[in-house]
Amino acid sequence: MEFNTKLLHGNAVKRYQDGATVPPISQVNAFSYDSAEQLEKVFDNRAPGFAYSRISNPVVDAFEQRVNELEGGLGALACSSGMAAITAALLNILQEGDELIAGNGLFGGTIDLFQDLKAFGIQTKFVHHLTVEEIEPLVTDKTRAVFGEVIGNPGLDVVDIRSVADFVHTKKLPLLLDSTTATPYLVQPLALGADIVIHSSSKYMNGGGNAVSGVIVDGGRFSWDAKRYPGMKAYLKHGPFAYLAKLRNGIWRNMGGCLAPMNAFLNIVGMETLGLRMEKICENAKLLAQALQQTEGVTVNYPALETNVYKQLVQEQLHGMGGGILTIRVGTKEQAYRLMNRLKFACKATNIGDVRTLVIHPASTIYLHSNEQQKEAAGVYPDTIRVSVGIEDAQDLIHDFTEAQKEISVYGGRKERR
Ligand SMILES: *Cc1c(COP(=O)(O)O)cnc(C)c1O
Repeated sequence: MEFNTKLLHGNAVKRYQDGATVPPISQVNAFSYDSAEQLEKVFDNRAPGFAYSRISNPVVDAFEQRVNELEGGLGALACSSGMAAITAALLNILQEGDELIAGNGLFGGTIDLFQDLKAFGIQTKFVHHLTVEEIEPLVTDKTRAVFGEVIGNPGLDVVDIRSVADFVHTKKLPLLLDSTTATPYLVQPLALGADIVIHSSSKYMNGGGNAVSGVIVDGGRFSWDAKRYPGMKAYLKHGPFAYLAKLRNGIWRNMGGCLAPMNAFLNIVGMETLGLRMEKICENAKLLAQALQQTEGVTVNYPALETNVYKQLVQEQLHGMGGGILTIRVGTKEQAYRLMNRLKFACKATNIGDVRTLVIHPASTIYLHSNEQQKEAAGVYPDTIRVSVGIEDAQDLIHDFTEAQKEISVYGGRKERR
């Protein structure tokens, strides 16, 4: 089955109650059983079933299965947000004294989280680019995981998944990748050797910008050494399911970052068009990036541009698609604001992966808590605008951006003459 067919007819798509084509919204906290004995069995994982929606819920389960199938994983676990997913995915394996190696140019909230983890004795070492050459010198006997974004948001660096995965495995380290911006339409990181894939499904998966959520998918292939990951010891009896079993019975359940049933439903409806949207979004993003590259006063960063350093990797690893995000620089912060304020179709909003085109000035918003070095490493300069391209008609988007740029150039010039 190809991608779009799998979205609608894959193994994870079940016949739901009464022949429903999408699962009913199981808007309920608790599930009752005929006997106390049966409830005990469900609680103890000795019988299938649902007990309480913080732990599992039918429509959330249906969403997890669909994402898991698309990523080719062993199992998935949905969370209340992308940040909840990243937090749980890391805390499931890290403890005080451990070190993490992470790429730069990542989502601002993730960088903030790494800062928060310091208080719990977990240190993060950043590389400029997540490559073998840059990771190698930072590995110590305390390193326990390597984390990156397949396409960095907003840095737009692309990780060579296979080479990084092969290398970190020689160091007995798992590779955790946030694939929010790539989506399984562009790449399945697990198939290239990544161990755990994380999504902020608030973005492209949902697509309509109507539910915040996250999801963790485990490939089940990493062999957890109980000496290096002491918390994993009690779960090794689950074999390849050790990581997922520990998550579901431990930190994820107890921290309470479960996905609301209604949001799982909205994600399922949204993700059925993931392939169609990504195709259009990537096409639009490339056309807009190319048009802006020809526009005076604008510099563009987009991974699928001929001139981009990642062009070849995009070709080989991402089926030639550069994703839906581009960043542009227009000279000064004032020019960036003028351009943003003149756009007719792009909403000024802090989100990505919406059907609508969205723009934001990262330095004053999502990178507000980051230092100058972190901003620079992410390509976040005072004049940087991030564009999350939507599914509008490309000609309208191109016209909107290029006309706005022309207007601000004239305005800027006049002002200088005065
Ligand atoms: C938005 C985003 C997150 C955080 O997800 P939330 O659902 O907003 O918590 C994490 N990683 C990336 C790449 C993102 O774009």
